[in-house]
Amino acid sequence: MPDEVIWDITYACPLRCMHCYSESGRRPSRRLSHADMLRVADAIVAMRPRGVAIAGGEPLLIKNLAEVVARLADGGLSVALYTSGWLMTEEMARSLAEVCDRVVVSLDGASSATHDRIRGRNGSFGHAMRALRLLDDLCAERRAQGREPVSFGIDCVLLQSNFAEMPAFCEDIARRFPELGFIAFGAAVPGGLANRRGFDERELLTEEQVGLLNDPAFAHRLREQAPGSVMVTATDNRILQMHPQLIARGVVFNALQIEPDGEARAMPIYEGTVGNILTASPEVLWRRARARWSDPFVVEALTPAFTMRQWAEAARRIDYHFGSDAVRARIDRRPAYHGGEVANGSAQRT
Ligand code: SF4
Repeated sequence: MPDEVIWDITYACPLRCMHCYSESGRRPSRRLSHADMLRVADAIVAMRPRGVAIAGGEPLLIKNLAEVVARLADGGLSVALYTSGWLMTEEMARSLAEVCDRVVVSLDGASSATHDRIRGRNGSFGHAMRALRLLDDLCAERRAQGREPVSFGIDCVLLQSNFAEMPAFCEDIARRFPELGFIAFGAAVPGGLANRRGFDERELLTEEQVGLLNDPAFAHRLREQAPGSVMVTATDNRILQMHPQLIARGVVFNALQIEPDGEARAMPIYEGTVGNILTASPEVLWRRARARWSDPFVVEALTPAFTMRQWAEAARRIDYHFGSDAVRARIDRRPAYHGGEVANGSAQRT
């Protein structure tokens, strides 16, 4: 059974990030009814993963989200919630603090200029800062009351255009929030809009940047720049590739991704579903997912892929091969990336 389940609970989103893996906000939300979300939660609990990441789309768009998260938590699962922070209110922060193990705010720049451009909407940096402030204040309040503070942190998708801001995250942003628990830097991977033509050359990390991420001295310097209470991690996310050589060495991303309507993705980065969690048994879904890892097409596509550019090319082939007709049509509609996308006052189509 999977160690982790990633549940994209909706494809609706107020932002239009240039790298969005799920292409949220540009396609139907495929959101289930509340009763069916609880059924999905029960099915995830039955899989007994260690943890669940609730992502999307923007999970805060879900009415009664805390009740859905509570269903997972009551089932003994550790729940991490990923949000852009755009919609976060004090009331939401309070209710989520009761049921989530971690709340993770996405921040892709240490300045509004960088973050808003990457996230495709003016004001998104300010909203993320406000969400972090709400969580920080809430933590301080709970600590003063002798209660366990909720763990919250920052997730940054690393691109060529924000790579140089990593030290500013540690030196500047982290110091604004005394209760901040972690900053997780992760290289963008070639999925969804981060895998359209042109994006690999212009925004996926260069091999030199990937090399830096894997340099212990670089990671040490970042940790030194942050307050001692903040855990700083950086990964090239290569484990998500599911490269046959890594799998042979037992380095496996043991995770299942659930789409908003319950369809399960065999390998989280790649297109291609293996059944619906509302109708197929957990054992069947997981057996089909594992079989995909060693599918001859996957092995042939991934074996020669060692650089980011090669990975992107392999991912495009896998997505097209295993994607449904609707997925292939969506891939065909993706606009090539030429750089220079700018944030608008309202969400823009990309
Ligand atoms: S916040 Fe950005 S990356 Fe996240 S779902 Fe919305 S558009 Fe995609």
